Amino acid sequence: MNKILPYGRQYIDDDDINAVIDVLKSDFLTTGPKVTEFENSVAEKSNMKYGVACNNGTSALHLACYAIGVENDNEIIVPAISFVASSNCVLYCGGKVVFCDIDENTMCIDVNKIEQLITPKTKAIIAVDFAGQLCNYIELKRIANKYNLLIIEDSAHAIGHSNYYGDLVTFSFHPVKHITTGEGGMVLTNNIDYVNKMKMFRTHGITRDFKEREISGDHYYEMVELGYNYRIPDILCALGISQLNKLDNFVKKRQEIAKKYDEYFGNISLKNYFDNVYHLYIIKVNKNRDIIFKELKKEKLGVNVHYMPIYLHPYYQKLGYEKNLCPIAEKIYENIITLPLYPNMTDDDVKYVIDIVSKYI
Ligand SMILES: *Cc1c(COP(=O)(O)O)cnc(C)c1O
Repeated sequence: MNKILPYGRQYIDDDDINAVIDVLKSDFLTTGPKVTEFENSVAEKSNMKYGVACNNGTSALHLACYAIGVENDNEIIVPAISFVASSNCVLYCGGKVVFCDIDENTMCIDVNKIEQLITPKTKAIIAVDFAGQLCNYIELKRIANKYNLLIIEDSAHAIGHSNYYGDLVTFSFHPVKHITTGEGGMVLTNNIDYVNKMKMFRTHGITRDFKEREISGDHYYEMVELGYNYRIPDILCALGISQLNKLDNFVKKRQEIAKKYDEYFGNISLKNYFDNVYHLYIIKVNKNRDIIFKELKKEKLGVNVHYMPIYLHPYYQKLGYEKNLCPIAEKIYENIITLPLYPNMTDDDVKYVIDIVSKYI
């Protein structure tokens, strides 16, 4: 094999390209009709009422934390292993991150370890649908109800399910995710108050955007909060709408490839307790992970490691999180390797991955 097989890659076709070109020729490059259409399409597909699109998955998480009113002193429970954005969003709002250990079979938050972390200051749980698998929302909902907590579902890995369970659900449209807008994100919710707050926060904390002013014919607006510019252009939303048409096929293809991998690596891969749309295919090796990792790289496999426990990053260490806080997360981090997985892998690509990985494990 003379090309490198990356761990993830976008799929763009002529429909996507034409959708973008059409917007470039239209009146609105940003904050026009494609934004609303994209919001409605993603919400409908995911069986949620409302969508608020934004410029990436990280700002989606920030919007969600703002919507539920995370502020100084609030404690938010976050799984120890995820992308750093899953907990950074809490810090943006001045909240405190309380890391929870993960389930070593699924790498989702360990629902049996949440209750011991809850204090009177706990406000919410950020649940990450890790690698594409839904968390245990039966338990998460029970705990949230019992202690009056909210759930933010970071589903950056898991667009393509038919139902979601968080009070707010966030997606990312980065090119390695299931569908892409280049950069982009969205928050879904059934709560119109959250929608209004997030739309205001997305555009500088200003009460009426320029379109509403255009329609009403007057110039007046007020800035009532210190918001941000988290808007996503129409150009990108057109790409998102076009990508969304292909999402079911993307997921089917990912699941088929995962099934083939399972034949060879099923005994060392993560386990499925709930539906999985397979963003990542992760195997666990008992020892020599870094040596195996380097060998696989030499063989042109774009393997990766998702992820180091967040609190081991220097920034979080400076905040005072101690080593050994979440022992399962730290142990599993030493063993995991993510294999290439994306919809337009050929049968030969898949066979190549299986042959090479089998050589080293
Ligand atoms: C990708 C990702 C994000 C952030 O999304 P961006 O669009 O890159 O900002 C957040 N959480 C998780 C779990 C992710 O994988």
